[in-house]
Amino acid sequence: MGHDHDNDLDPMTARVRALETILVEKGLVEAAAIDAIVETYEHKVGPRNGAKVVAKAWADPKFAGWLAEDATAAIASLGYTGRQGEHMRAVFNSPEQHHLVVCTLCSCYPWSVLGLPPVWYKSPPYRSRAVIDPRGVLAEFGVELLADTQIRVWDSTAELRYLVVPMRPAGTENLDEEGLADLVTRDSMIGTGLALSPGAKA
Ligand code: FE
Repeated sequence: MGHDHDNDLDPMTARVRALETILVEKGLVEAAAIDAIVETYEHKVGPRNGAKVVAKAWADPKFAGWLAEDATAAIASLGYTGRQGEHMRAVFNSPEQHHLVVCTLCSCYPWSVLGLPPVWYKSPPYRSRAVIDPRGVLAEFGVELLADTQIRVWDSTAELRYLVVPMRPAGTENLDEEGLADLVTRDSMIGTGLALSPGAKA
């Protein structure tokens, strides 16, 4: 290692830093307030919220039905609500159909259930290629689907954000919700991954 530069911020991070500096210098916002928001989304909110939603949907068909019908309300019932009241939609993977989420315009992401978006989610190559060549993108993430599994790509917006409910792995009949949640990765809820199998986790 030993190869750290202090000037290798990605362009978006650099722009955010610059904007933050200007806002703070002009006295428009307090640095502490920004830090508190980032801290919240990095440490308190995160993919574990989404994992609990997915685990509950796997374990409780009634909840799964509610999640399919009205994801915003079902997710809010667990205490996870959006910052600006954006709506959530849950899309369920099956052997016939795999769902993949992107924001082609910018980086809209379901913060309330997944925390902060990963860097690649915000990158122009992911945003364009997820639409043009979703199967190729999935392969790069190590996801190989059956040839006849259709891939459906969902474009997030500020108003509507998506949570992918991955397929429940085999061999998980005896796991409780907590054990199930441990198998639900962040990427599996974006659609760039699959849920872990119990063996792979151990
Ligand atoms: Fe966006």
